[in-house]
Amino acid sequence: MSKLQPVRGTRDLLPEDCRRHRAIGDTARAIAERYGFGEIVTPIFEFTEVFQRTLGETSDIVTKEMYTFPDRGGEMLTLRPENTAGVARAFISGGLGQMQPLKFFYAGPMFRHERPQKGRLRQFHQIGVELIGVPEPLGDVEVIALGAHILEVLGVLGKTTLEINTLGDAESRNAYRAALLEFLRARRDKLSAESQERLERNPMRVLDSKDEGDRRIVAEAPRNTDYLTPAAAEFFKRVTGGLEALGVRYQINPFLVRGLDYYCHSAFEFTTTELGAQSAVLAGGRYDGLIETMGGPPTPGVGWAAGIERLAMLIAEPAAPARPVAIVPIGPAAEAVALNLAHELRHAGVTVELGYRGNLSKRMKHADKVKARAAIIIGDDELAKNAVMLRDLDSGVQELIERARLIERLAPRT
Ligand code: ATP
Ligand code: MG
Repeated sequence: MSKLQPVRGTRDLLPEDCRRHRAIGDTARAIAERYGFGEIVTPIFEFTEVFQRTLGETSDIVTKEMYTFPDRGGEMLTLRPENTAGVARAFISGGLGQMQPLKFFYAGPMFRHERPQKGRLRQFHQIGVELIGVPEPLGDVEVIALGAHILEVLGVLGKTTLEINTLGDAESRNAYRAALLEFLRARRDKLSAESQERLERNPMRVLDSKDEGDRRIVAEAPRNTDYLTPAAAEFFKRVTGGLEALGVRYQINPFLVRGLDYYCHSAFEFTTTELGAQSAVLAGGRYDGLIETMGGPPTPGVGWAAGIERLAMLIAEPAAPARPVAIVPIGPAAEAVALNLAHELRHAGVTVELGYRGNLSKRMKHADKVKARAAIIIGDDELAKNAVMLRDLDSGVQELIERARLIERLAPRT
């Protein structure tokens, strides 16, 4: 077993990493709760069909990125690549339609088989929200404002730009799709092989292309805003107007699209230039047709997801854990007392580091290494007096304290 490695694109999160991840999850959850979003946890695997139908047979995720396998009973299962489909499935299978509007927050691991690089993993983590049952533009505004609020509290809003676009309603999209298709077909030969392939199946996806040549062509392409029905244009105006009223700054990006049929109206992304090629931090949109596509009742929805690993690279160092008090016994008799003392103090709410071995100097070094705020030194003298020497490790000041008074001295005041 000399070369036992983690699977490519997966990572162990050590305590430091976990503290960053937790700071993000806890902050997001607390703010989402302030907006009335309650947490939902769906399974990390679902029947493959759940994703195939919702994400669209032609999407990158479905064609290239899913971890799909037959389980022992022969059912095809997929590790969730994202959580909107799972939430929509829960809405349908749980019969939650009577309780609208529904507001969900989630946090957890997602799985995509893509090329690992900085900020792009095969197992990564997302936080996200879904607002189900609100067809009004106010829903989009609230969901985007919640995203901005979370980024603000995490201290990363200033490092991002909110890009927003509208896909309009079905009529707008069909008109635009036709115009775009005509434009792109006339330039077919100049498109990249991948875009040529996407062209007929899903021309909107060509707008997404990262290929330089494609981007030059796309820059000249018709703009979807010219094909909006009056109702769709009004919807978008109310979304941007709501953001303006809240002071949420945005830029309209006419090339920001979600190519799938059940996406409509708002599509948005908070992007950053600080993470190299991985620019998207938080992305989402309105998906009014999704639940119906999955076989549920027609139900509007809007939401977003953000990558925790990407956020973790942008936030400041989270607050350090409580500094411990180190117990430093000298000799076997003191060691027995130390074990009991650690137990009592911990039950009283004190963070205690109990060294396991070594003489005074070794143990003091260890106390230093764990950044202890104080050392409780117990030698023969102290034992005889039923006391301990309490040394403040920042000031070096020490004093003899009766054992019975130690808890009162060290326990956090409540
Ligand atoms: P990208 O364009 O970077 O591939 P995406 O459009 O596939 O992103 P979404 O499906 O919208 O991403 O997911 C929302 C967020 O989840 C992204 O903005 C990003 O922060 C994060 N994310 C997506 N894929 C990964 C990944 N493989 N590793 C880490 N984070 C990811
Ligand atoms: Mg992707």
